Amino acid sequence: MDILFASTNMDKLKELIKILPNHKILLPKDMGIEFDHEEIALTFYENALGKAKTLFDIVKIPVIAEDSGLCVPAIGGEPGIYSARYGSDGKNKLSDKEKNLYLLSKMKNISNREAFYVCSMVFLINHERFYICQETLEGEITYEEKGAAGFGYDPVFFIPKLNKTAAELLPEEKNEVSHRGKAARVIASLIEKNL
Ligand code: IMP
Repeated sequence: MDILFASTNMDKLKELIKILPNHKILLPKDMGIEFDHEEIALTFYENALGKAKTLFDIVKIPVIAEDSGLCVPAIGGEPGIYSARYGSDGKNKLSDKEKNLYLLSKMKNISNREAFYVCSMVFLINHERFYICQETLEGEITYEEKGAAGFGYDPVFFIPKLNKTAAELLPEEKNEVSHRGKAARVIASLIEKNL
């Protein structure tokens, strides 16, 4: 089946293609569409559903959309739904490295380092039929960056059960445990069963 993935993020696309090898995953740009959905909702799943519905209205084929982010309870759940634009003044987004340093500076005197990634993934067949799956990956915020793989907050996200940061994992190792990997596998099994 052709499925449109409502994203411009190549890292996320690569992760998804590995989990759904039997389907053709397209990006909006593959269909000549410039898609930029403003994430205005206050929850991950509402942002993902909004994105999926908006794109479906344009393409009328099944859509996968997701919204994800990092939550750190000790600083009130930041950066949360604002993970992509954390620390920006509204005009210029910080780079991944700048965001990581900004987060580390906010966590400087905080001993509770607990954190978790969240991924809400929506598979939308049409406005009446859709599936939402929300998953997490538990970890801790490090005191310095470590590792060069992955993206985003991975160099400052330590996974105790693997004794590594997410940026020290091979892509397939990360897929195995990650919030997005887990959500995508649930969605993938629904796609295989229902359609
Ligand atoms: P979105 O594109 O609005 O879903 O932005 C999600 C943001 O959350 C990304 O830009 C990253 O900063 C962060 N994020 C989500 N998932 C991950 C992950 O697996 N690793 C590192 N950062 C992530």
